[in-house]
Amino acid sequence: MIYLDYAADTPAEEAVLQTFCETERTFPANPNSPHPLGLAAKARLDEAAAGMAALLGVREDEIIYTSGATESNNLAIKGAAQHYAKFGRHIVSTMLEHSSVDGPLQALQAQGFEVEYAPPGKDGSVDQNALRGLLREDTILVCVCAADSELGVRQDTAAAAELAHALPHCLLHVDATQAVGKLPVEKDLRAADLLTFAPHKFGGLGGSGVLLKKHGVLLEPQISGGLSTTPFRSGTPPLALIAAAQQALSLALDARGEREKAAAALNRRLRAALPRPGVVLNSPETASPYILNISLLSAKAEAVREELGKRGVCVATKSACCAPGTVSRPVYALTRDRKRALSTLRISLWHQTTPEEIEEFLAQFDACLKAAAR
Ligand code: PLP
Repeated sequence: MIYLDYAADTPAEEAVLQTFCETERTFPANPNSPHPLGLAAKARLDEAAAGMAALLGVREDEIIYTSGATESNNLAIKGAAQHYAKFGRHIVSTMLEHSSVDGPLQALQAQGFEVEYAPPGKDGSVDQNALRGLLREDTILVCVCAADSELGVRQDTAAAAELAHALPHCLLHVDATQAVGKLPVEKDLRAADLLTFAPHKFGGLGGSGVLLKKHGVLLEPQISGGLSTTPFRSGTPPLALIAAAQQALSLALDARGEREKAAAALNRRLRAALPRPGVVLNSPETASPYILNISLLSAKAEAVREELGKRGVCVATKSACCAPGTVSRPVYALTRDRKRALSTLRISLWHQTTPEEIEEFLAQFDACLKAAAR
């Protein structure tokens, strides 16, 4: 099998699996139980939290552990909107957000919040003048992803933060799920009041996510029910998942630069080899090297994906959470071309992707394009 859908999920690193199993075996108790086994679990939890905080340059009490990026985005967006509704009910976001950002925004709209979307410029990055134009005294939240999941476009979250923080009561939420562990995120970490990521995108385990919440920012909890590591999200702290998350982050950050370089080389090869009649590149040159989005104009992308699947090549048409048969919102926002946005393929890479796999994909791609031609 040739797996080219790493933006949806990456395989867990062996060392991460070991840390998970060891922690689960060694610390059977709830870290909030005040007996000796509970205290031992709490000490291990503190060690993992201190490690993660140091890696990210944040305070330990700024880390909220969740079940994944979807939950983190829901908690950040609904939690902030509900808590700060007394200052306004206006929210601004972008057309490039993942469905786990847009879903809570739509839910808030149904509750009477007003949501507006800043359009992207030609390179996909949000037009800062358009963003400035949308902001108002009653804007309480701006949601901008660090890198989107379909095109891989990077956003200038520092510029967005400057605009948001010039308002009396406005927070910046950054969905950094496609950026943490893969791209430099120091600026995003400084800019964001709320920042989401999930270890399963960079060699960690599924079922675990993080929301970073700057000290002093308040949220309405979306899951209530007693003691955890934070009052903002209840539930027994999943110690082994937290230890595994810290390990995955440490490994990913250690190797980040060289992995990014390797992905960039593979991305360049794809960019040079893919354009041909009926195939156009959508991801701008400045996008994350881990993601390359293309449109197929002479064949249905779903049909090509299926043909590729039959030949052992796994790619995505859109983000795994998108409904099938719908346009890719980010590609439509960027190109304003419905045909192009209806037939997209996303090829996503990781450091485990080899040049040989890319050559094999390219060879199979031509055959599949012919087989699926309309
Ligand atoms: N945000 C972005 C940008 C994503 O790419 C994804 C998953 O693809 C998510 C959020 C949701 O992640 P999770 O599967 O951890 O809920």
